[in-house]
Amino acid sequence: MSLCELTPEVDTHTHTVISGHAWSTLTENCLAAKARGMKGLCLTEHGPAIEGGAPEYIPHSQRMLPDEIDGIRVYRGIEANVLDHQNHLDIPEHYLKFCEFAIASIHTHMFPERADRDANTATYLAMLQNPYIDMLGHPDDPSVPCDFEAIVEEAGKCGKLLEFNNNSTTAHRPGSLPSLKEYILCCRRHGQRVCVSSDAHFHTMIGNVKPILTLMDELDFPQELIVNLTQERFEAYLAERKQRISACAE
Ligand SMILES: [Zn+2]
Ligand SMILES: [Zn+2]
Repeated sequence: MSLCELTPEVDTHTHTVISGHAWSTLTENCLAAKARGMKGLCLTEHGPAIEGGAPEYIPHSQRMLPDEIDGIRVYRGIEANVLDHQNHLDIPEHYLKFCEFAIASIHTHMFPERADRDANTATYLAMLQNPYIDMLGHPDDPSVPCDFEAIVEEAGKCGKLLEFNNNSTTAHRPGSLPSLKEYILCCRRHGQRVCVSSDAHFHTMIGNVKPILTLMDELDFPQELIVNLTQERFEAYLAERKQRISACAE
């Protein structure tokens, strides 16, 4: 079966009204995931540095949530903002550690020093070395250039994931296509594990990654490298993550 006929069982990057500029509730997102036959989603609100973002204690307060909503497993997560080339995040470690899955992203409009490719690359490498961070969010963004070879190599070395973000195929992140293709091919060359995510800001977007899967089909990307294609594979990664974090704490 070709990739574009599949829906990942777990969407690893989703937002709700808590993010301030998204439009659906967690329940609406879960019902949308259920309607698509999915099994889980990562709740990854933006950190507080983004306009209208969630408070920094959100990862901690997600402990209040049930593990499942209408049969959909809700993985407690965050999309932390990288603040500068000194590698500061807008979620301190004492809150980050409550996450089951953490994405670190650079958002172009709040990163004025984004033209410096070498410094962007060094910052991404530092994020990959942070044991609490699982994945870089949309590093293909051409307005924040980086060295794909270097980040893919480091992600492999650190056992981390890289994101294929469906919004890179839409008007949301314009002009991304050439850089996205180069990034996908670089991951393919290195056998790098990835997640394909919707970055949904509205419930109809949950699990809707057909455009990027179609592109991955064109580029002959291997299905076995997509960690969130099945919940079993994603849970196996989470078990690895637990071991990694406990090894660092020793
Ligand atoms: Zn983002
Ligand atoms: Zn996002």
